[in-house]
Amino acid sequence: MLSPFSYWENNTYFTNLDLIVIGSGIVGLNAAINYKKAHPLHNVLVVERGMLPNGASTKNAGFACFGSPSELLDDLSNYSEQEVFSLVEKRWKGLSELRQLLGDANIDFQNNGGMELFTADNPSLYESCLDQLSYLNRSLQNIIGNDIYSIDQNSYGFQNLSGIIKNRFEGQIDTGKMMLTLTRYVREQGIHILNNIQVSGITDESDHVLVHTESVGDLRAGKVIVATNGFAKSLLHIDVEPARAQVLITKPLEKVPFQGTFHYDKGYYYFRNIHNRVLFGGGRNLDFKTENTTDMVTTPLVMNELERLLKTVILPGTPHEIDYSWVGIMGVGNTKTALVKPYSENVICAVRMGGMGVAIGALIGKEAAELLN
Ligand SMILES: Cc1cc2nc3c(=O)[nH]c(=O)nc-3n(C[C@H](O)[C@H](O)[C@H](O)COP(=O)(O)OP(=O)(O)OC[C@H]3O[C@@H](n4cnc5c(N)ncnc54)[C@H](O)[C@@H]3O)c2cc1C
Repeated sequence: MLSPFSYWENNTYFTNLDLIVIGSGIVGLNAAINYKKAHPLHNVLVVERGMLPNGASTKNAGFACFGSPSELLDDLSNYSEQEVFSLVEKRWKGLSELRQLLGDANIDFQNNGGMELFTADNPSLYESCLDQLSYLNRSLQNIIGNDIYSIDQNSYGFQNLSGIIKNRFEGQIDTGKMMLTLTRYVREQGIHILNNIQVSGITDESDHVLVHTESVGDLRAGKVIVATNGFAKSLLHIDVEPARAQVLITKPLEKVPFQGTFHYDKGYYYFRNIHNRVLFGGGRNLDFKTENTTDMVTTPLVMNELERLLKTVILPGTPHEIDYSWVGIMGVGNTKTALVKPYSENVICAVRMGGMGVAIGALIGKEAAELLN
């Protein structure tokens, strides 16, 4: 029988696997790290369908954020105070975990603040957030230890706004550096990552799990963690939907008139400075149905709106050109909480990070690994 692998390859990479993690995004890599810390002698393999991670972790905007006022007030109208503020706490703790693990210099963490912009056509939203600002500050004091929100002046040159509220504890990271540092750290722990392996199914056989792939056949492991986020439905029957997010970046500008991370129109749009460029994404709310997809292509509807807002609201007085665009796929569901739980006897799922995986990914990966202790 012809094997795709030599004796050495089989022995080194595919034999006696204690854990296979499917997906090499921020959650999968953190799950692998934490499992290996608890079981140093176990063999851990991460398999990834892409040449690089190909979901959200290398595609995102790099906001180290944990909640804007309108988002929290909107959440409070649907969920209890306890639920809403414990989610904020999770994001805050997750960011601390990520920063501690990798180091601020390695991920280029910059504490430039997170600003929520309120559009001129909806001044009442701004007014209601201002009315509730002291309440939000009081409620979050226990978690953050300080007042976080304050009114900000529009010293950035934005147009068509009714106001800006600043969260001075939010920051930004270099997503590429974060994932590169994380990947190096994983390899240093003796964990293998194999790319270009698309998993087509999983069979939990009770005393082991078979991970089915086209390229390398069936892989066998004691346990499996599925960390495929927006793609999870192709492997598991769970409540996770893909949500495409489209992003563009400008060519280098002479000077970017602002620094920091900005949420616009209830967070459906987001932009930031990066080097001497502006990164701008969002617009999923223009057509939720079409954006409920894993197709990694942009659409004229969203791209045209991003370009229009860039010209009329964000960079009205600054000549700029678009350099290129890309898309990433998030995993969302009926609630904002991540889904970390046993799926079957030997399979754990850790998916549904929504738009907050940079913040919570490290913590969710850790929780997934702890379910195997
Ligand atoms: C454009 C964009 C902007 C964002 N901005 C921010 C932000 O500023 N701040 C923030 O906190 N969050 C942000 N997010 C969300 C954040 O990036 C995600 O929540 C987070 O990266 C999810 O990490 P993950 O590891 O769960 O999933 P992913 O990073 O998607 O990882 C899943 C991996 O599984 C792989 N995979 C899928 N199916 C298979 C299979 N069958 N076999 C093998 N491999 C498979 C995929 O290729 C992928 O690499 C943004 C997301 C996007 C798309």
